[in-house]
Amino acid sequence: MPIKFDGELLGSSSSEARGNARWTDISVYADNDTGGYLVSRVGRSLVVHDGPCGNFKPASPPVHLLDYHVACTFCEPPSSPSSLVYEEVQRQSAQECPDAWTTIDALRLRSKEDDAWFVPTNSALALRMAANHDDKIRDALRKSMRTRWSW
Ligand SMILES: [Zn+2]
Repeated sequence: MPIKFDGELLGSSSSEARGNARWTDISVYADNDTGGYLVSRVGRSLVVHDGPCGNFKPASPPVHLLDYHVACTFCEPPSSPSSLVYEEVQRQSAQECPDAWTTIDALRLRSKEDDAWFVPTNSALALRMAANHDDKIRDALRKSMRTRWSW
């Protein structure tokens, strides 16, 4: 469902890298209507499947195999140019954050290994970029680095 708001992009970052078949684009916006912020995440994938596979269930009709598609290593879909394959859907989410602190919180993740909170590199880049354009995020980021968690 599209979200409509009056805002301005403060910072963005992508974990896209050569060889990554899945990545996340992070954007931090200033919300001019509320004075708060909006954090947008778009999970992208080039992976294609032969059909239902693990947690993947086809959500749209199959498409012809394209150059940029990356074959799932579990179900190994057919690889001829005329093959039909199923694409993974782009996962989009947007989170409204009333202030700079909740914006930083929204970009933290909890480590599965030691249960500690951390800010993934991708999110940290978007936040640092946002801090260059927004005093409140810059102040909150400075304080959070000193008092709340280590980077
Ligand atoms: Zn698969």
